[in-house]
Amino acid sequence: MSSLARLHVDADLKEGARFALAEGQGHYLARVMRLGGGDRARAFNGRDGEWEVELAISGRRVEATPVSRRREQPAVPASAPAILFAPLKKTRTDFAVEKATELGVASICPIMTGRTQTGRVNTERLLALAVEAAEQTERMDVPAVHEMVSLAHALGTWNTDGLLVFCDEGEGPSSGPLPSAPAMAEALSARAGGTCGGILVGPEGGFTPAERAALCDLPFVLPVSLGPRILRAETAI
Ligand code: SAH
Repeated sequence: MSSLARLHVDADLKEGARFALAEGQGHYLARVMRLGGGDRARAFNGRDGEWEVELAISGRRVEATPVSRRREQPAVPASAPAILFAPLKKTRTDFAVEKATELGVASICPIMTGRTQTGRVNTERLLALAVEAAEQTERMDVPAVHEMVSLAHALGTWNTDGLLVFCDEGEGPSSGPLPSAPAMAEALSARAGGTCGGILVGPEGGFTPAERAALCDLPFVLPVSLGPRILRAETAI
């Protein structure tokens, strides 16, 4: 860890290769953090590791020159899953994206289900939140943020090399005790050799009976329980 400000950038990072920071980042460093020319910060781009950079400030323009690499770029762990979730109300979706990024998901996939409350999501906004969360959590990459697709589309195009872990809260309180699905660790070890490609969490109203039935029928879908209590969707995510 370091107290130097940490920024995600698009530019290639190599020694001496000076680049301009985006205006918002320049503003943050120069005005909010009150850094000046010659001060240091850290930059990462998800490809070249993390670099200490030296700043040059002229008016609103802030440039950075990579000085030394502080961390190598790790190989993306094959085990990092995607999170597939039905978007919630705005602040709850923001919270979910932030926490999923902190926990290391490889990608963020908003999914339209029968009971999804929100018809559209602002993917650019979610990406900006993921970038901020990656910067503060010392991640070396930013998860991909995909456009919203229907549940049917997500299932139809699923890469079946990995399991889709389906967080299944059961049929609801009226239909008897929870949970009916096994716990995640138990379910995964019962499918020895199976890796988790993604985790699917439903909307506030849960999945429809037809969606649950369709999910449970697919060979690559692994229904799991998160415990005996019904969690709010953002907690489950
Ligand atoms: N069906 C409920 C609430 C859905 S909770 C209702 O009618 O109000 C939102 C989502 O969180 C669910 O679709 C499920 O994916 C996940 N979830 C919540 N609690 C869970 C649990 N105990 N086990 C597995 N998944 C859970």
